[in-house]
Amino acid sequence: MKRNHIISIKAFIVLLCFSVTAFGQTKSNYDYVTAFDPMFYQKNGNEFRSASGKPGPKYWQNAANYHIAATLNDKDREITATVKMDYTNNSPDQLDYLWLQLDQNMFKDDARGNAIIPITNSRYGAKGEKFDGGYKIKSVKIGGKDVEYLINDTRMQVYLTEVLKAEGGKTQLTIEYSYIVPKYGSDRTGILDTKYGEIFAIAQWYPRIAVYDDVLGWNTNPYTGPGEFYLEYGDIDVEITSPSNHFVVLGGELLNPEEVLTSTQLERWNEAKKSDKTVVIRSEKEVAQGSPHPSGKKNLTWKYHLKNTRDVAWASSSAFIIDGARMNLQDGKTALALSAYPQESNGNNAWERSTEYVKASIEKYSERWFNYPYPVAVNVAANVGGMEYPAIVFCGYKAKGASLWGVTDHEFGHIWFPMIVGSNERLHAWMDEGFNTFINGISTEDFNNGEYYKGKADANKSALVLTNPLLEPVMSSPSAMNERNIGILVYYKPAFGLKLLHDVILGPERFNYAFKTYINDWAYKHPTPDDFFRTMENAAGESLAWFWRGWFQNNWRLDQAVTAVHKNSEGAVITIENLEQMPMPVVMDITTKGGETSRVTIPVEIWERNKTWDYQFHTNEEVVKVQIDPDKVFPDFNPGNNRWTK
Ligand SMILES: [Zn+2]
Repeated sequence: MKRNHIISIKAFIVLLCFSVTAFGQTKSNYDYVTAFDPMFYQKNGNEFRSASGKPGPKYWQNAANYHIAATLNDKDREITATVKMDYTNNSPDQLDYLWLQLDQNMFKDDARGNAIIPITNSRYGAKGEKFDGGYKIKSVKIGGKDVEYLINDTRMQVYLTEVLKAEGGKTQLTIEYSYIVPKYGSDRTGILDTKYGEIFAIAQWYPRIAVYDDVLGWNTNPYTGPGEFYLEYGDIDVEITSPSNHFVVLGGELLNPEEVLTSTQLERWNEAKKSDKTVVIRSEKEVAQGSPHPSGKKNLTWKYHLKNTRDVAWASSSAFIIDGARMNLQDGKTALALSAYPQESNGNNAWERSTEYVKASIEKYSERWFNYPYPVAVNVAANVGGMEYPAIVFCGYKAKGASLWGVTDHEFGHIWFPMIVGSNERLHAWMDEGFNTFINGISTEDFNNGEYYKGKADANKSALVLTNPLLEPVMSSPSAMNERNIGILVYYKPAFGLKLLHDVILGPERFNYAFKTYINDWAYKHPTPDDFFRTMENAAGESLAWFWRGWFQNNWRLDQAVTAVHKNSEGAVITIENLEQMPMPVVMDITTKGGETSRVTIPVEIWERNKTWDYQFHTNEEVVKVQIDPDKVFPDFNPGNNRWTK
């Protein structure tokens, strides 16, 4: 999901600039026993999740294939559908019941999510719209027979008449349902009015099986807004019946283009698949002239298929301008980048560049991290600020320039986290938003020779915000964070942590090897925070308990200081101190009277049993200046004591 908390970060900087004063010589608050406690993990590796961070030899996860046939009634804003789910229980446990997620129930008046939304300044819920929200379940059947079920808030429990066998037992569940689409649905789904018709951005739109895993069993945390989704993988077939003047885009392969596109559109569609330059498939002029479509029918049915995916989303509108281009992936593979946007979004460095952004973003992520797995990638202009789904994203229709690049790159970065690496977003949002924000940073530096790159941030200033004592720890669940802190804790702080590992603590070579190992090992699986920490430590060969503990598990602060410089027979003894609870390596520039500056790096191990460290600098000259963290890469919130001058 999009980060929209930049304003609050600026506000924090302003507030904190006033509250931090020069410390001078301060007593250290550092406790090295706690920082370097060797017992970081609360449980050992096992046959399901190995100590090295890899999935263990008996790792399992359940699977769900869906076939969904849905009709969009645009006049009533209603979706009516039948979903057939083929579910396989690969767990070692027999199951007596299933849990499904009914996310649309968040828009019922009496929903738990509705009850906890603050009166103002929340992006969740339906922004006060009064409508008949939530799923209307018509029937729930197994093998053609009605089964009993219970609905509690956004969850549905289905009681199985026959126990579902362990290690491969299968069942097929069929649900008939309908719901009214919210105009504004927690900034993830909605309806936008435009000159040439409404844009329906459709997501969280079918009952989905909850994940049953070896960590918690059934993951039944309700959908209340902040926590996103945790879903099983499988193949999904979708048939969408929509008014014939609509164009339906879905994150998946279009199986019947000749039935739903005009012959001209089909020709351009096929041309786009071979073109590095953006090809307009349905132009603004054509939309204005009445949304061209194969004539003679009131409705058209669009058939789509997506393999090995954890979700599916789509959009439908008479207003869509459509363009596309080929994406050149790794191993000679290609895929189709598409954009769907209204006339209002076309022109002046806005959505007419969307396909260029989609292509650049995905090609680079494929090259750097893991090959893009889907046949298409669709960017849809909607009244959703920015939200990701497999092979399709919704971005704000007013975005242009740097903001359209930023949101497009961010939402497609989510293909890697959490669409490929399927972590539990509802509990551990930092594992998708934070990791994604980290890869976005590299992507923006790259794009079009840095067209939208604003340069390096000053880590000392960032630290004021990222380690503000009022923050919760990163490893809190997003539901247990003040909403205004989510932008910092879920996006920026974990991204900063990975960048620090990449740039300084491990260096790019060791970091990239370990991070790619994590992506490869956990692609299409369900890693936990421990699996990530263990993989990084194993693949990089470094104990990082102190770092995970300080940056992710707690909200520790860093304040290094140079407190004295004394001459001795060897040169100079430089006294440095660790004043707060976060340890870090120390990088210093030492300048002598002759004007020569030497850079020294001291490993974090000096802080394993010391609060103060005397560093022997060998020189024949007098030392006149010492500067800790000269490049401002460490999150030292109090840089005032980082400099000593004679
Ligand atoms: Zn996001």
